[in-house]
Amino acid sequence: MTTHEQGGSATRTVSGRRLAALVRDRCADEQLAHDVEVVRQVLPFKVSRHVIDQLVDWKSAPDDPLYRLLFPHRDMLDPKHFRAIERALGDPVALRSAVASVRGTLNPHPGEQLTRNIPHEDGDEVSGVQHKYAQTALVFPRHGQTCHAYCAYCFRWAQFVGHPELRIADEGPRQVIAYLRRHPEVSDVLLTGGDPLVMRSELLEPYIDALLGPGLEHISTLRIGTKALSFHPARLVNDPDAARLLRLLESVTAAGRQLAVMLHVSHPRELEPAVTRQAVAALRAVGAQLWAQAPVVRHVNDDPTVWADAWHAQLMLGIHPYYLFVERDTGAQRYFGLPLQRAYEIYRDAVVRMSGLGRTARGPVMSTTEGKVTVDGVAELPGGRAFALRYLQARVPDVVGRPFYAVWDPAAQWWSELVPFSRHDRGFFPPGARGAGGADRAAAR
Ligand code: SF4
Repeated sequence: MTTHEQGGSATRTVSGRRLAALVRDRCADEQLAHDVEVVRQVLPFKVSRHVIDQLVDWKSAPDDPLYRLLFPHRDMLDPKHFRAIERALGDPVALRSAVASVRGTLNPHPGEQLTRNIPHEDGDEVSGVQHKYAQTALVFPRHGQTCHAYCAYCFRWAQFVGHPELRIADEGPRQVIAYLRRHPEVSDVLLTGGDPLVMRSELLEPYIDALLGPGLEHISTLRIGTKALSFHPARLVNDPDAARLLRLLESVTAAGRQLAVMLHVSHPRELEPAVTRQAVAALRAVGAQLWAQAPVVRHVNDDPTVWADAWHAQLMLGIHPYYLFVERDTGAQRYFGLPLQRAYEIYRDAVVRMSGLGRTARGPVMSTTEGKVTVDGVAELPGGRAFALRYLQARVPDVVGRPFYAVWDPAAQWWSELVPFSRHDRGFFPPGARGAGGADRAAAR
């Protein structure tokens, strides 16, 4: 067990070679422990004491959904990549090269985050900021670029594997604040990572104090993206720094701004521990609005009952269901990914079980380079069957809210696999998307 301090509150975590020892100890399965040792060379894994003691059901491992969410599994790698890493174990030079080559195949920066989302001013990159939608800027505080534990499906996994060229992090609040002062169209700032709540309060204070200060009156909402309530809820309850953090968060609402804590809840069991419920109550007591989101992924939550239970638990705790995302085209997508058709069925079958107040989650949503695209359903059109799609958010605001269509493909898992249904629909896809199908093919017949 390692005591982890990334400029943050002390969390005891297990990572690296101790993971295999933990699995060997808890599951008494040598093959499983070996697989853990192979796969963790490529993708980042870390679990907290809370995860080990309160979330994972060790009697059901490795099939337990929380185990699947957090621990390496051999199916996360293509079998030929698994064998390549396995062969290289024990030879540091060969292993480094094999790991680099396998990581390169896993699309480490989906959505062109390193090229299209980072703003430039006077020819210089504003590091640690992503500004994709006019109203919302994402800020990546340098000390918040890790998490209390790692979700194995994390689309930001590249940040955690120690390659500076794959890392998005700011140079401190000054450059970020200067940028935001020059952008009055920004109403929402999302502090994200990683998880900003790994930071000690004294490191978060300069950001929050500055955001509440002069010149930034246009920032009406401060959002904080976190999975601390699932991985280290004591951070908001009995951590030595908890009281200072809560005072800091309260300063946002006391200043008349909205504080939105964007929780990441993959499975309803994450909301069961008493300490987690205390953390929710503590956040509500300082005036925070709570919103919950997660991707729908195989092995963890690919079941409408799980989503309906999660949304119900969230409503009972005063948390708004927000997004059901589609697993992104990165990392262990081969293990977690689901066809869009299945993701849509899970969303629909879950949402019909909810009362109106529980139907606030949008989904299934793909967070693409162009914007957030939701699958509204399957339509039978004159040219054939189609996915009905809609942008909830977009770089080009004009496309938001307008229905468009892609050729129905029962195997497609991601946006890049979809084909515009007609010439009209091409305008909603990125330049270079595959040619129109459906209606145009029918017209040509
Ligand atoms: S909490 Fe978010 S950033 Fe952290 S590992 Fe999970 S998905 Fe990634």
